[in-house]
Amino acid sequence: MPLYEYRCSKCGARFEALLSITRRDEEEQKLTCPECGARRPERQISAFATGGSFGSSGFSSSDSSCSPGG
Ligand SMILES: [Zn+2]
Repeated sequence: MPLYEYRCSKCGARFEALLSITRRDEEEQKLTCPECGARRPERQISAFATGGSFGSSGFSSSDSSCSPGG
């Protein structure tokens, strides 16, 4: 399924959603802003990107150094 980008017309939050091509219009009706819950976000025209890599953001965990088992 392709990834679509949307922008909330109420609070301006941007988010992405994976929608089926055949049911996109139908799924869009149910889309809500993850920030304020507003419905019917504006679909953004995203540039053609080669390859798909999902970057992880907001992840920060202090992992203690690995200790050798004994
Ligand atoms: Zn919003």
